[in-house]
Amino acid sequence: MTGMTQLNRNLGMVLRGVGVSPGIVLGVAARMDREDVQIERVHLPTGLLEAEVSRLGDAVNRAALQLDELQRSLVESDLAEGEHLGVLNAHKVMLRDPMLLGEAEQRIRTQCLNAEWAIHETVQHIQEIFARMEDPFFRERVSDIQHVAGMLMRALLGEDDGADLGMSVRPGEVVVASSLSPAETLSLARLPVAGFALEDGTATSHTAIIAHSLGIPAVVGVGRLTEHVGNGENIILDGAEGEVIVHPSQDEELVYGRRARRARAFLKALRQNRELPAVTPDGYGLVLRGNLDIAEGCARIADAGGTGIGLFRTEFLFLDRTTLPSEDEQYATYSQVLAATAPEPVTIRTLDIGGDKLLRVERPEAAAALGLRAIRYCLKDRALFDTQLRALLRASAHGNLRVLIPFVTSLGEVKAVRKILGELRAQLQSEGRPMAPEIPLGAMIETPAAALISDLLAGAVDFFSVGTNDLIQYTLAISRDETAGEYLYNPLHPAMLRTLQMVARAGRSAGIDISMCGEMAGDPRYVLVLLALGFHELSMTASSIPAVKEVVRRTPRSDALVLLQKIMNMSSAEEIADYVDSYMVEHFSDLVTPRMREAPRYAR
Ligand code: PEP
Ligand code: MG
Repeated sequence: MTGMTQLNRNLGMVLRGVGVSPGIVLGVAARMDREDVQIERVHLPTGLLEAEVSRLGDAVNRAALQLDELQRSLVESDLAEGEHLGVLNAHKVMLRDPMLLGEAEQRIRTQCLNAEWAIHETVQHIQEIFARMEDPFFRERVSDIQHVAGMLMRALLGEDDGADLGMSVRPGEVVVASSLSPAETLSLARLPVAGFALEDGTATSHTAIIAHSLGIPAVVGVGRLTEHVGNGENIILDGAEGEVIVHPSQDEELVYGRRARRARAFLKALRQNRELPAVTPDGYGLVLRGNLDIAEGCARIADAGGTGIGLFRTEFLFLDRTTLPSEDEQYATYSQVLAATAPEPVTIRTLDIGGDKLLRVERPEAAAALGLRAIRYCLKDRALFDTQLRALLRASAHGNLRVLIPFVTSLGEVKAVRKILGELRAQLQSEGRPMAPEIPLGAMIETPAAALISDLLAGAVDFFSVGTNDLIQYTLAISRDETAGEYLYNPLHPAMLRTLQMVARAGRSAGIDISMCGEMAGDPRYVLVLLALGFHELSMTASSIPAVKEVVRRTPRSDALVLLQKIMNMSSAEEIADYVDSYMVEHFSDLVTPRMREAPRYAR
């Protein structure tokens, strides 16, 4: 996926990675190299051990204060996204996690160690355990733990005073590093830096997500980046194409400069559609909503011109913590989002635990990667599920709530949820709690099973929300987590088009709303196909809303229907994708990347 092309001496060296946040920067590289902290192993006399434990406690408090400070300044500077605050919260929880803090304290007491060495050994131990795990979720957590341990170490060594997380990058520079923690990324964003180029990372790593939502161009997974880019060197970063050009030639600077100016002018023009409805020139209206992972990101959706929330992934309330959120805590979060979004609807999805999202809390049954996931898990863990549903029912009094069931594979699951909701409603009524009289209930169509029985499900729910991220991986038998199979990911595969058509037809005949909340919905290349298939609502990351709206506003639905008919008669995924790419280049050359303009994706 990543690679390097050495060009002749009149051109710069092009390093390729994954573009995770669009935008072109011509700038100066600021290398961020972490010097390894020198620590020593010290054997302490027994009489000093408790003092050493409290020294560690003080360091934890200082590191937590630093994170609080970072959170506060982000909120004040309006740079905070829900995800960022959530990551910082997760780091605060990790600081006090028994696996880290508890084990380090135990090492001080039982092995008479100094706090620095106790932390060092504990982190080594955690790394060894996690390295043996196959699950990418745990591998991601290792880097979080390393970052938290790094903060703790700096606090212990007294190197944290006003050091702004130990960074020396100047505003306007392009950060070049092997990796960055989410906290470091946030802190750098405040300067603000012009871009991020990283050797590590994937499109779904926290750092990539943060850079994207803050609108800072970023390329990750750039092989051998730090070997080739020195501090202060001129580079060009193209966050859409995933390129870093080292020592660019004058010609390259001119070309990329032009591209950058065009992109900036286009984004400015796009922002002007914020207040406009997503209606085609022949009067077909689509509702564009935002996807929300953590409550605080709510304002960005409205700012981008979105109407309400089409998917609130509640799992992020449950992850990275060692206790479950209580009914009152959940109620407070849901109510806040509902009240802030009212009268527009908020679709809150019940817990989608399993897959790569696992609870750290001991429960009678463990969720699984595939089998016992989402609604299947929740129906087995009624204490957890009932708590969430009670919180949702109570929160319904504060806005326009719709409840969405994830990973549905049978009619029985929908019926079970309706029954439980009825029982809990009666319970809450007897407690005198106010609730909305009607709460629409929807099913996620994200498994081939759900798609195949969509006619049966349509009679039992009030709306469908198609989750293409899972639906594509299970229909095309490719993993969302493995980059090796990425070339097979194609939402326009005939199998997908047929599946989507079947679901849309089932929804239409039952007269229910058909929406989509998977990544396909936020990609301008697919909007016309979805419009033609009869989707009513598309829900996406806030920053994708303006471009998607633009496609809708510029294309009559009659044109979209012709396009759909044409591709439905094609038999190969590659032919369809290339046809749609060419259509986009012809009609929306301002919305597509330069590489796509050069050649459609399979013709390259
Ligand atoms: C999906 O599968 O498309 C979806 C929206 O859910 P998630 O990405 O949370 O699995
Ligand atoms: Mg899903």
